[in-house]
Amino acid sequence: MDFGLSDEMRMLSDMAYKFAVNEVEPAAAKADEEEKYTPEIRKKAGENGLIGCWIPEEYGGAGVGFLGNTIITEQISRVCMGIALNVTAATFGSENIYYYGTEEQKKEYLPPICAGDTVFAGAYTEPNAGTDVAGYKTRAVQDGDDFVITGNKMFITNGTVCDFMVVQAITDPQEKVHRSFTQFIVPAGAPGVIKTKIKGKLGIRASDTAEIALDGVRVPKENIIGKRGAGFYQLMHFFDTTRVMVAAQGIGISQACLDESVKYCKERTMFGKELGSFQITLQKLTEMWIRIEALRNMTYKASWLLDSGKPDYHLSAMAKYFAGQTAVFCANLAVELHGGYGYIEEYKVQKWYRDAKILELYEGTKEAEIMTLGKVLMSR
Ligand SMILES: Cc1cc2nc3c(=O)[nH]c(=O)nc-3n(C[C@H](O)[C@H](O)[C@H](O)COP(=O)(O)OP(=O)(O)OC[C@H]3O[C@@H](n4cnc5c(N)ncnc54)[C@H](O)[C@@H]3O)c2cc1C
Repeated sequence: MDFGLSDEMRMLSDMAYKFAVNEVEPAAAKADEEEKYTPEIRKKAGENGLIGCWIPEEYGGAGVGFLGNTIITEQISRVCMGIALNVTAATFGSENIYYYGTEEQKKEYLPPICAGDTVFAGAYTEPNAGTDVAGYKTRAVQDGDDFVITGNKMFITNGTVCDFMVVQAITDPQEKVHRSFTQFIVPAGAPGVIKTKIKGKLGIRASDTAEIALDGVRVPKENIIGKRGAGFYQLMHFFDTTRVMVAAQGIGISQACLDESVKYCKERTMFGKELGSFQITLQKLTEMWIRIEALRNMTYKASWLLDSGKPDYHLSAMAKYFAGQTAVFCANLAVELHGGYGYIEEYKVQKWYRDAKILELYEGTKEAEIMTLGKVLMSR
């Protein structure tokens, strides 16, 4: 058993953090304030091999697996989780092309994402169905060699900035619900695609989020990913892998909260002593540290298992759940330790407090993770 990171992974971690400090940090506050997506940073990240690095080299990626992706996501999220999403979630949705797509699809779509030239979005959630993933209503009706897609998608990351979307739609309503869905690659500029940016998010405001209306959008049958009717199972597999990335965001933001708090607790004095000299302060800092360490171990292990071809999807779900809990816990304590200053825009912890909450909501709410894991326990 070896818990150490290889030299390659250490170098990747240093490189990703340096990138974040040099490129992301200067842009973070303004992008948050103006809710501004950052294409120029995504492009630079692509040039540095930081996008889609889990994708093998033959399809344009760095080929450093999910562990490499976890490390990069962690390091960029230490600086800004919103901009980190613009980099690491540029592939979002394309995972299923890698797993289930044809060789032609992989060669056509994956390399430009890794280069930072194109962006994907995963369009699954609908206005009336989020957690209930079998409750989506978007329809794709076959018309000769094409499918015509009609429906509404909600909260789509990269929605107004993407070049392509992976859309989950019902093709076979006569089948049992889990066998009725198919996934399609839909060009974002296709006639009938209407994108509306959702403004006023609590956090991750540099990340683009949109509502997408699909009004009779025509795509050729070659745009099907994997098998017709297998979309539900492909989507479940997709979440099983991307949850690890969400867990990695949680490590990064939690670590940032701890680092900033330690710094502040050394600087701030009261009653003639450092804030960090009081036991109650040390308890807060130490509890953050312990949880981050546990989260990092859990997430690295889940990533390593994915790369080893022995995925443990329950562990991935646990890591994602624990990431949300840890990030919200750490951000809350970071604000508390900063006192009134923690409530003010000038101090980074207030942004991280807002950003952290999304980790308990997207890619499956914390309740959804618990329900899934609980069912597993009871079925044993
Ligand atoms: C910023 C942002 C980015 C996102 N990006 C994407 C994206 O790129 N692609 C995409 O497809 N989606 C995306 N989402 C959607 C996200 O995954 C959903 O919001 C999430 O899955 C929850 O769905 P919902 O909002 O419909 O809430 P609901 O499913 O309506 O849930 C409401 C509440 O009910 C709880 N609940 C649900 N079922 C049960 C139950 N059986 N018992 C008890 N409680 C229950 C939930 O846990 C939650 O607390 C994004 C969301 C946000 C906010």
